[in-house]
Amino acid sequence: MDRRHFLATAAGALAAWSAAPCFAAARDVLTLSDGDFAMPINVLGSNMDAARIKEVLDAEGAPSSNLRNPINVTVVRRGDDFVLFDCGAGQNFAEGTGKLPGNLAAAGIEPERVKHVVFTHAHPDHLWGALDDFGSPAFPNASFHIAASERDFWMSPDVFQHLPEDRQSFAAGAQRLLKELAPVLQTFRPGEEVVPGVAAFETGGHTPGHVSFEVRHGTEVVMVLGDALTHAIVSFQYPEWRAGFDQDPDRAVATRKRLLDRLAAERLRVIGYHLPKGGIGRVERSGTAFRFIAEA
Ligand SMILES: [Zn+2]
Repeated sequence: MDRRHFLATAAGALAAWSAAPCFAAARDVLTLSDGDFAMPINVLGSNMDAARIKEVLDAEGAPSSNLRNPINVTVVRRGDDFVLFDCGAGQNFAEGTGKLPGNLAAAGIEPERVKHVVFTHAHPDHLWGALDDFGSPAFPNASFHIAASERDFWMSPDVFQHLPEDRQSFAAGAQRLLKELAPVLQTFRPGEEVVPGVAAFETGGHTPGHVSFEVRHGTEVVMVLGDALTHAIVSFQYPEWRAGFDQDPDRAVATRKRLLDRLAAERLRVIGYHLPKGGIGRVERSGTAFRFIAEA
């Protein structure tokens, strides 16, 4: 484990639960890291050539080689229990992931106190952390919530035909995990309140049933976006680029544009699962496109 990163995360978490809400999106809304994983540059624009992507990243002073994709799990404290939004990749997805359990412990959150895990979608980096290293439930007292259309896509016997070779393992993993969770898995539809204060809304395209969540906590509102917007520069400045892991690229582009419009107009605080510095920030208009303003 990257010790410096771990300590920074843990310190932020601990501070967030004290009087000072630093590193948190709101008083009881925090993100914890599950680590990060290597990401090829062409994932940022499967219809763009690598030189063009690099040029865009270089212009912003962002890294354009050895890209790492951070994982931010949103944690909401409600009295004595907690709600997680997605639950990390676990140990079996990629080198560098599976750090959520350690970071929860550092923040003083026992897995038994997680009452709900709410999924944006069922990709491995969001789902596979639901089981621990031994294949047992990582959050033994939690109920799990997923959009019905997302569960149906992954559990369909022909899901494998809809995925390229390099994503066949995504489907095998989703089927294994969702079967394992079935006794404690509940489904919802976009527009519904999933748990009190947490409303799902449709942000499909990245996966067929991808949703985001409007989280109301006291007087505060935080939008948990999952993978509707995945990169701090490309998703905001070039929402029309096709992202490599988007299942339905045209729909994902339309979703990004619609979402960015709303987030900027309403000046909403957002959390992106793969955005930098804990993923917390806001969206502003910038010329004909948008800009992510990190808050951390
Ligand atoms: Zn993801």
